[in-house]
Amino acid sequence: MSATETQTRPAVLILLGPPGAGKGTQARMLEQEHGLVQLSTGDLLRAAVKAGTEAGKAAKAVMDAGGLVSDEIVLAILRDRMAQPDTAKGVILDGFPRTPGQAEALEALLAGQGASVSAAISLEVEDAAMVERIAGRYTCANCGAGYHDRFKTPAVAGVCDECGSTEFTRRADDNAETVRARLDAYHAQTAPLIGHYEGKGVLRRVDAMGDIAEIAAALRAIVTDASAR
Ligand code: AMP
Repeated sequence: MSATETQTRPAVLILLGPPGAGKGTQARMLEQEHGLVQLSTGDLLRAAVKAGTEAGKAAKAVMDAGGLVSDEIVLAILRDRMAQPDTAKGVILDGFPRTPGQAEALEALLAGQGASVSAAISLEVEDAAMVERIAGRYTCANCGAGYHDRFKTPAVAGVCDECGSTEFTRRADDNAETVRARLDAYHAQTAPLIGHYEGKGVLRRVDAMGDIAEIAAALRAIVTDASAR
């Protein structure tokens, strides 16, 4: 590949891992550092639910129960988002793909743009810790910065570090019962993608049980390496 082609090829990074593994937190940090766009199908679906679109209405009950929304709906939302010009430099896919069918559809979509998956990063965590992690998390209602009751509190209580807002929200599906269903869905439908990307030679594993900053450093090294390819 020529140097020119290397520069123009978008980096496509996939963050794999169960709910609570830290995909959103890490994607946000990588986005700020590398000029890539975080693309979270969960965020896009929540926005569709809030806007009351047909897709949002169809997705709501499934999301409330912790199941997976149909590939048809998710792929339509993803294609629309990937067509936006801000994704040209590259994307960090957070929560997508989640099924083998979605992985195949992504590969077809990228092939049409002369691109491919740069790296699939598996955030490796223990299920037992995930319920506690999820039950304590919340986000700034204004800028979306993520916090946690125990692991990541704002410097000034009740004030967002990033934008100064004092409004915060918790996700409706972040309750213990729904989290268990989401973990089940992850193991049944998404975990097989780890083997899929290993077979393609793009899988990178990261121990995601530790400190947020240490995990970020490990990811930074992977992303710098993958972006340079
Ligand atoms: P997340 O924000 O990634 O935890 O996703 C929240 C919920 O949105 C999930 O529990 C699913 O119901 C739905 N969802 C998000 N991404 C996908 C996807 N790629 N495929 C199917 N359902 C999804």
